Amino acid sequence: MNKSDSERIAAILERAGWQTAASADQADLVVLNTCSVRQSAEDRAYGHIAKWRRYRQRNPSFIGVVTGCVPAKEGDKLAKRFPAVDIFLNIQDIEKLPELVAEKRQTAFAAGTEYTDQNINYLQAVPHHQSNFQAYVPISIGCNNFCTYCVVPHARGREKSRGSAEILRECQELAAKNYKEITLLGQNVNSYGQDDPAEIDFPTLLQQVADISGDFWIRFITSHPKDMSDKLIKVIADNQPKVTPYVHLAVQSGSNKILAAMNRKYTKGDYLRLIGKIRQAVPKVAISTDIIVGFPGETAADFRETVNLFKRARFNMAYISQYSPRPGTAAAEMEDDVSRAEKRQRDKELTAVLEEIALEENQRDVGKMVKVLIENKKGSRYIGRTPQGKVVKVRGRGLTVGQLVEVQVEEALAWGLEGRALASS
Ligand code: SAM
Ligand code: SF4
Repeated sequence: MNKSDSERIAAILERAGWQTAASADQADLVVLNTCSVRQSAEDRAYGHIAKWRRYRQRNPSFIGVVTGCVPAKEGDKLAKRFPAVDIFLNIQDIEKLPELVAEKRQTAFAAGTEYTDQNINYLQAVPHHQSNFQAYVPISIGCNNFCTYCVVPHARGREKSRGSAEILRECQELAAKNYKEITLLGQNVNSYGQDDPAEIDFPTLLQQVADISGDFWIRFITSHPKDMSDKLIKVIADNQPKVTPYVHLAVQSGSNKILAAMNRKYTKGDYLRLIGKIRQAVPKVAISTDIIVGFPGETAADFRETVNLFKRARFNMAYISQYSPRPGTAAAEMEDDVSRAEKRQRDKELTAVLEEIALEENQRDVGKMVKVLIENKKGSRYIGRTPQGKVVKVRGRGLTVGQLVEVQVEEALAWGLEGRALASS
C-alpha cells in the first residue's frame, strides 16, 4: 500500500514540476512515506529524519515531509519531537503537497494536520508507476478487523472500498499499456465492497478484472482467512493461470488460544480446512502466510502449535515477525511477557522449519519448465518470479527486465529456484 501511495506522491510532485533526485542527500525535498506496523519500521523512519538536519546544513532550502501511518497516528506529538520535519501530512491530503511546499518555501510555514478518517478519493490521483510492467492497484483502504496487535485500523481508519468502475478503468488502462502484472491491494481484499451495499463483492471484481483482455497476471493481497469464500476460491480456480495460483493467507498463530486473543475469528482447524479446499480447487497453488511469534501469553506449548501448523500447512513462504507492542492497540494493554531472546529463538526455529519445507517443495520443480516474469538484474543474473510468486535466478542471453520467459529449473533453494531461460515471449 505504501509503495502504491508513493507512486501517487511522485506523480503529484512531477505534475507540479518536481524531478526525481539521484539520492535523498541531493534532494531539495524529501517525502518520507512511513509505516508504523512494527516498532522497527517506525525506528527506520526516525533514522531517516535524523539525517535531515545535515541535509539542511548543506542545503538551507531543504524541505522534509512526513506522511503515511506515523503522522496519522501521532502527528502532533511528532511535531514537537522532530523539529527537522517541515510538514506532517495525512496521505489523504496528498494532493495539497505541492501547495504546502510552495507556501513553506515562501514563509516559515508550520504545518501539522489533524488526523481525520481517510478520504478514499485520494486514490483518484493517477500514480506514476515505478515499473512499466508491474502495477499495484488499491481497491480498498483501512481495516475494520481490529486484530488486537495491529495498528492499521488506528493509523489508517475504517475500511473504505474504492468504486469498482474506477478500479476496472485503471486495470483496463494498465492492460492497454501492456502491463504484465496487476496486483489488487487492500488490507483485507476479501471484504471488498462490504461497506457499500451498491458495490460488487471481491470475487465479482476479481472476475471482472480477469475478463479484461490481455496477457497479464493478476495477484491480490491480502486475504483474511475468515472472509475467504467458496465463491472466491472458484473464481481463482476458473481463471487459471491469469489469476496467479498464489494465495497469501495470513494465519498469525497455530494456537487457538492465541488466535482468540488476537481477535482473528478462526481456529487452526478452520485454517487447515480452508487451505485444503484451496489446494483441491487450485492444484498448483502456492500458499504463503504471516506469523507473529511471542504474542502476549504465548507459551512454549502455544508455539509448538504454530510449529505443528507449519508442518501441516507446508507453506511455500512465510513472513515471520517478532511481536512488538503498538501503542493504542488492545494487545498493548496486555503484558508483553515473552522475552526478546525467546522471541528471537522462536523466530529462528520457525524459520528453520519453513526453510526445510520450502526447500522440499521447491525441489519438486527441478527439471520442470516454469514461466517467469523478469523483475530485475543483479550482476549477470536476472531475477524474476513464477506465477506462484517463487523467486527465480535466471541465466540466459538477450533477456530484458519486464519480459516473460520460459525457464528450465536446474536447482532448488529454500528461498527460490535457479534455472536457464529457454524461450521468451
Ligand atoms: N491485513 C493483513 C492481514 O491481516 O493479513 C496484514 C497487514 S499487517 C500491516 C502485516 C503483518 O504485520 C501482519 O500480518 C502481522 O503478521 C505483522 N504485524 C502486525 N502488527 C504487528 C505487531 N504489533 N508486532 C509484530 N508483527 C505485527
Ligand atoms: Fe491489521 Fe488485522 Fe486489519 Fe490485517 S486484518 S490490517 S492484521 S487489523
